[in-house]
Amino acid sequence: MKLYKTILVAFLSGLFATNSMGQTRECLTMQMDSLRRSDHNRAGASQAFETWLASKRYGNSTGRTASITYSIPVVVHVVHNGEPLGEGANISYAQVQSQIEVLNEDFRRKEGTNGFNNDPVGVDTRIEFYLAPIDPLGNVLAEPGIDRIHGGRAEWPTGVVQNPIEFQLKPVTIWDPGRYFNIWTVNFGGFIGRNLLGYAQFPDMSGLEGLNEDEGGALTDGVVIGYPYFGSSEKGDFPSLFAPFDLGRTTTHEVGHWLGLRHIWGDGNCFIDDFVGDTPPANQPTNGCPTEVFSCTVESMFENYMDYTDDACMNIFTEGQRERMEIVLENSPRRANVVEVIVGTTEPIEPVIKVYPNPTAGKVTVNVQSGWMREITLFDTMGSIIREYRLPATVNPVNLNIEGLPDGLYFIVVTGERGEIMGKEKLIIFK
Ligand SMILES: [Zn+2]
Repeated sequence: MKLYKTILVAFLSGLFATNSMGQTRECLTMQMDSLRRSDHNRAGASQAFETWLASKRYGNSTGRTASITYSIPVVVHVVHNGEPLGEGANISYAQVQSQIEVLNEDFRRKEGTNGFNNDPVGVDTRIEFYLAPIDPLGNVLAEPGIDRIHGGRAEWPTGVVQNPIEFQLKPVTIWDPGRYFNIWTVNFGGFIGRNLLGYAQFPDMSGLEGLNEDEGGALTDGVVIGYPYFGSSEKGDFPSLFAPFDLGRTTTHEVGHWLGLRHIWGDGNCFIDDFVGDTPPANQPTNGCPTEVFSCTVESMFENYMDYTDDACMNIFTEGQRERMEIVLENSPRRANVVEVIVGTTEPIEPVIKVYPNPTAGKVTVNVQSGWMREITLFDTMGSIIREYRLPATVNPVNLNIEGLPDGLYFIVVTGERGEIMGKEKLIIFK
């Protein structure tokens, strides 16, 4: 409790400090984290996991090969107040797509993009994101990965008491966090002059140092981003995006938290750690876009996504950070369920499918011309989902047993590695 008060005081003083400084970055993850733990009336338990972690860390890092890719289906809840599609908080599908592209460029350290770096400790985390093609009821989404919500209010205050995002919005709009990574875009409000860009919920039971066993539970799991910071102005004409935070790095930063990363300065002085071995210590965040910063007698890694620099000046996740995120994806409840582990290369695919024999009496083979299938969904002519086959990695072709279904016309929809619809074919069952 004493710790909580300390953090709260630090937060309040930070709040007023940023007012006079103008365009600086503010992330509320640590404050929300302490608030959630206060609400849950449970003390942090990270110390209890240290020994466990030591063995876990080494066990995991040797257990996977470099050919593993983690792929995460995303739903973006676009929370608006009745604005026309594409205006204000009701951001366009293209703007959402531009953000997913940025996530993949950054987490994959993709050459030729802002996400590439030549830093010796900079890595491809091999974590990818795609817009989920199907909603929780099995319906194919008209806009993949988008859930538009009329929130009934113009602004979403983020006060530390009875925060309506946590208490009202999230619990009634969240999609099963074991199947979807939930992102909410909102119009933050409530504090004039605030520079709040977003916040995340840390993973539960990751076993990682610096995190707690209970970080908030299933009903609030995900990240919240202010809509003027969601997407990239380099990928389209999105007038609501707000420079210098208009290149999608707020979401990269918050997803880093969602996968278990702390701020690079550890939210403390030179002796407070971010629990990552290959990031240098720092006694405070770095704002703006400097050329060189020294802190704690060493050069700061202000290009790290977990710092507070401007969007244009970030491009590094380190191997130590990658390792931490991998531990979360392998162990943390919901994260381990939502992620799909792909073995092998992940190059784009040609969207051509074959279904045979057709008509069939009970067994069918589905084949894609190239690439791999992730999911096959069987619909009836009314558009209702009949069966859903979530496939293991690197499947092509796949043999499905569809016995037990009545004769008739069906549709097979094949979803590829990145969640894209690879194709749709008619299937006739005739016994
Ligand atoms: Zn943060």
